[in-house]
Amino acid sequence: MSSAAAISVRGLRKAYDGREAVRGIDFDVLAGEVFGLLGPNGAGKTTTVEILEGYRERDGGDVRVLGVDPWGSDRRHRERIGVVLQQSELPPSLSVREVHLMFAGYYAEPRDVDEVIELVGLAEKASERVKTLSGGQKRRLDLGIALVGDPELVFLDEPTTGFDPAARRTAWELVRSLRSLGKTILLTTHYLDEAQQLADRVAVIREGSLVRIGTPAELIGAAPQVEIRYRDDGREVVVATAEPTRVLADLTARAVAEGRELEGLEVRRPTLEDVYLELVDGDES
Ligand code: ATP
Repeated sequence: MSSAAAISVRGLRKAYDGREAVRGIDFDVLAGEVFGLLGPNGAGKTTTVEILEGYRERDGGDVRVLGVDPWGSDRRHRERIGVVLQQSELPPSLSVREVHLMFAGYYAEPRDVDEVIELVGLAEKASERVKTLSGGQKRRLDLGIALVGDPELVFLDEPTTGFDPAARRTAWELVRSLRSLGKTILLTTHYLDEAQQLADRVAVIREGSLVRIGTPAELIGAAPQVEIRYRDDGREVVVATAEPTRVLADLTARAVAEGRELEGLEVRRPTLEDVYLELVDGDES
């Protein structure tokens, strides 16, 4: 294991009732990076993350989280990680501040709760009861709770599901600020633009196996095709090519010679979403 790895996974396996959900995956998450785990529903992301969080026992392989086997790890280890679950049940009658204080009580050296509340953008809601919060505000509360112990490593499971576009941007800023504080972040998300925006590296899991790992730019760069689109007599024409310069030169030269404009001309590189859909093709029906 590299000494710079915050998380190291080797040959990880897990089956439920004899059906393999995770089929021998390997990856490292480096200290200080935002690492995105991507894959369709049922791919094995949550299973993997729960094993890393220490909530689920693995069947095989080796896993180290901050140098420790998370299964059966002690309280000192757990205080070094922060977990934001997809759904959580919090006491509905407590205020935002009281919930933060309650969780701060579990840690030897918690962060200042008001600072955390400010960081997750809930300062104006600090005295409001949990039951009065909107869905997006509850997710921010979950994030605040995960940060109250000042963790080195944060697990974010679909952190912006249900957020409005502005709240998503705010959450992205928050993830970036955590990264700039030197935290390591493991993120699962179904929003490919989110992964492209936030993740230093991503791993794509499909049917329990890792199919691709790299920076978003590497994944996109590995896709040879560029799309050229234009309209011809109102008809949409799409040319996928690995030689966009030559194809574009031919197209434009012909149009110029004929004295006409290529309507709606567009040259588009694939996005992470295009590459992802190609990788998991047929899984998301
Ligand atoms: P999603 O994107 O929907 O959250 P995921 O990638 O997180 O999916 P997992 O929740 O890890 O996927 O599930 C992987 C497989 O394991 C699925 O086929 C699922 O049905 C199965 N599975 C998950 N948890 C259990 C469980 N507690 N008991 C039995 N089978 C389970």
